[in-house]
Amino acid sequence: MAQRKPMVAGNWKMNGSLELVSELAEVITKIDTSDVDILVFPPFPLVKSALDAGLKAGAQTVSENNAGAFTGEVDAQLIHALGANYTLVGHSERRAIYGESNETVAAKFAKAQENNLTPILCVGESEQEREQELTEQVVWQQIDAIISKLGVDALANSVIAYEPVWAIGTGKTASPEQAQAVHKFIRSKLAELNSELAAKIQLLYGGSVNENNSEQLFAQPDIDGGLIGGASLKANSFATICNSA
Ligand code: PGA
Repeated sequence: MAQRKPMVAGNWKMNGSLELVSELAEVITKIDTSDVDILVFPPFPLVKSALDAGLKAGAQTVSENNAGAFTGEVDAQLIHALGANYTLVGHSERRAIYGESNETVAAKFAKAQENNLTPILCVGESEQEREQELTEQVVWQQIDAIISKLGVDALANSVIAYEPVWAIGTGKTASPEQAQAVHKFIRSKLAELNSELAAKIQLLYGGSVNENNSEQLFAQPDIDGGLIGGASLKANSFATICNSA
C-alpha cells in the first residue's frame, strides 16, 4: 500500500445542489491531501461549480463519441476543458439502467483517455452472480474488455473501483475480507500481465461505505480507498471517510 496513494471519491449520482457544493467545499478543502486523493463526481451542471469551489471534480460518465450530433451527451474534451481530470465509466447503474455493455464501457474508457481524463472503471457482480460463484469471472470480463480493446498498459493511467452491485445503496457492505479477496484477485490477475502496473494501480472499493466501516475496509492490503455514494452527500460523513483513508 505504501507505493499507492489512497483515493476517496464521492459519486453524487443524480443528487446535489449548488448549496451542497459550498457545504462540501468548506469542509473538504480543509483536509490535507498530501496523503489522500479526494474527488467528487457531481451531476454535470455542478462540475464547474465544484471545481471553482476548490474541489477536484470529475464526470459520472462520458460520451464514447467526439463532439457532434448526440443530443443529451457530454464529450470528454469539454469535460477536460472545464478543468476536470477524471471520469467514472461503467458504473453499475449505467450498465443496468442504460444498457451499457462491456464494449460501450471500453469505448468510453478510450475516449476519456484520448482527452486526458483518467477513467475510474467500475466493475462488480450482481447478487445472483455471487451466489453462482461467478464473481471473479464477471469482474475479470469487465476488466478484460478494456485490455482486449486497448492493451493492458492502458490501465496504467486509470483507477478500478470494485463495487458489488448487491452492496450499492443497500446498506449491505461487503465485509473487509470479501472485498479484499476480490481486490487481491484483480491485482494478481493484472500482475500476470504487468506486475509493475498491478503494484501501482489504485483499486477502490464501493458499496455502502460509510463513516463506520471505511477504516476497516481501507485497512485491507489491496484496497486503496473507496467510491462513496450516499455517504458522500453529507459533508461531515464524507470528511470522516476521507480522513480514514
Ligand atoms: P453507495 O453507492 O455508497 O450509496 O452504496 C456507491 C456507488 O454507487 O458508487
